[in-house]
Amino acid sequence: MSFMSRFKRDQIKADVGPSTSSTEANTAPEIKMGILMDNAPPHASSGKSGNHDNGSIRVYDPGSQADVSITGKVITAPGGELELKEAVRQLIIASSEREIYYSRSHQTSPQVLSEIKRIESIIGDAWVKKPTDMSTIDELYHRAAARGGRKGTGSRNDQSAMQRAFISIIANAATRNTSDIRIVVNQSRAITRYRIDGIYHDISEMPPQYAFELLSAAFAMADASDPAYQQRQFQGARISNLTTELPAGVQSLRLQFNPLANEGRVLVIRILYSGDGRMTDVGSLGYSREQVRQISTMSARPVGINVISGPTGSGKSTTLKAILEGVIAKRGDELTVLTIEDPPEYVIHAAEQMPVTNAKTQEERAEAFTQAIAAGLRSDPDIMMIGEIRDRASADLAVEGALSGHPIYASLHANTAMDILTRLRDMGIEDFKVFDSTVFSGLVGQRLLRKICPDCRVPLEDGIASGRVDDLAAERISRMGEHTPSHVMAETTLYISGDGCPNCSGGYRGRAVVAEIILPDDSFMEMMQQSRKAEARAYWFEHMNGIDLLGSAWMRAVGGEVSPIDIENTVALLDPLESHRHALEYWFKHAGDDR
Ligand SMILES: [Zn+2]
Repeated sequence: MSFMSRFKRDQIKADVGPSTSSTEANTAPEIKMGILMDNAPPHASSGKSGNHDNGSIRVYDPGSQADVSITGKVITAPGGELELKEAVRQLIIASSEREIYYSRSHQTSPQVLSEIKRIESIIGDAWVKKPTDMSTIDELYHRAAARGGRKGTGSRNDQSAMQRAFISIIANAATRNTSDIRIVVNQSRAITRYRIDGIYHDISEMPPQYAFELLSAAFAMADASDPAYQQRQFQGARISNLTTELPAGVQSLRLQFNPLANEGRVLVIRILYSGDGRMTDVGSLGYSREQVRQISTMSARPVGINVISGPTGSGKSTTLKAILEGVIAKRGDELTVLTIEDPPEYVIHAAEQMPVTNAKTQEERAEAFTQAIAAGLRSDPDIMMIGEIRDRASADLAVEGALSGHPIYASLHANTAMDILTRLRDMGIEDFKVFDSTVFSGLVGQRLLRKICPDCRVPLEDGIASGRVDDLAAERISRMGEHTPSHVMAETTLYISGDGCPNCSGGYRGRAVVAEIILPDDSFMEMMQQSRKAEARAYWFEHMNGIDLLGSAWMRAVGGEVSPIDIENTVALLDPLESHRHALEYWFKHAGDDR
């Protein structure tokens, strides 16, 4: 179930932990701080004494670019009159002189607001009340504790506790169907961001020192080619559920540590889900009925290479999994399906998945990958899947496999289905291979577009009236409409995304696959070989009943599912060719209204 249940997600549940209240969801659904409170660092003044001398403490607050100071005794420290719980202490500091500083990222948090109110009800209205960085609050506690005659507590968190904290971040992210997490740390602050439905959301802030320790603890539990964690190096690593207990449904984590300017560091985590269910139905991914038919034709062929292209995060792996599992379901489990991936992104049922791992450098990886493909071909599979054609060597092997009578599936980084051929030529593959329609027999380009929320979407007309859609875009949209059958446009309202509502995340809910599929014939290949691209496209539309990414995305807009503005940002400008008339007429007749 993984793809649809993951991408057809409803709203992002905003309430994330004991330390935040769900009422906050209405004000800022996607910026939700406080997740990490359960694993909060034992902070700052963790000693017992509450005695603080007088004498002012001054700390520079990077967020407001100004000094903040405390002159009174810190009453919210451990042992203080108004000692706060550790999790809350990261967010608020208050003194006997009625100075209160609180986390800027939490200034709308009901918990913080009510805590400040409580403090003021006891000490009186604050004299100074300012939002600051969390790191500033941390520093104030530290200095206050030092002033009280104690040392800061130095390195405060033992590694296994940090590792548990790291895993619980993963668990939290996984329940929200996060594909990637970024932990961005610099000297003044650290932010955790989740990528959900393709878009990053700020999730929580933590003190930088804590975040630095968290990154190093994550590295310590991973498999990496570098033996030691090095703050200033680019380092890649992996954590798999074979060696580490990962949250349910998570198969492995790919970690990339990068240095940032000014001693900062970012960790990017790609979460690979195990995908419990088989996905035998390509249609369930959101392809139209007509496109499912094209994919069935493509995968029924006994030989040839089928290539899926698109940028990172366009759902290529998911499509490959669905196609292969569909073929396996149709033709039975006696089929030998072999995959070579770096690393496997999903479990593909009944396939032998060979990972390419333990390569340190780019060259080593390319070499290992090539060797694995060669070994795979010698193992005589019925079907082979190559995770990614990335260079001439892997492309040559794919061609060799096709020529020796194997159906091959692969992905490739190219913008469009037509660009696959151009890319292969650029890699140095000979024309007689690239432009042979029995070798490269299936070309797919795809994107994932965010779906607009039907509960708060805004009619395009209103968007134009309010200036949210500029005149040039409005003009292009109307030209696109002129290329669409008039009876379709007559009963269509176009929409753009709204501002968000309780049922969605910022006006969007889930994603839709938008695709173009070419099953080339000889004439098409000839035009492509002679670089007559415009002609090839018109031929594809008019003689092969094709439609491109722009056309199929536009059909989604006409269906009210996606915003024309998002098409322009993600796919292409709405700049129709004359031949789009034919394509749209055909596709609205054959592929419309089937979902
Ligand atoms: Zn909504």
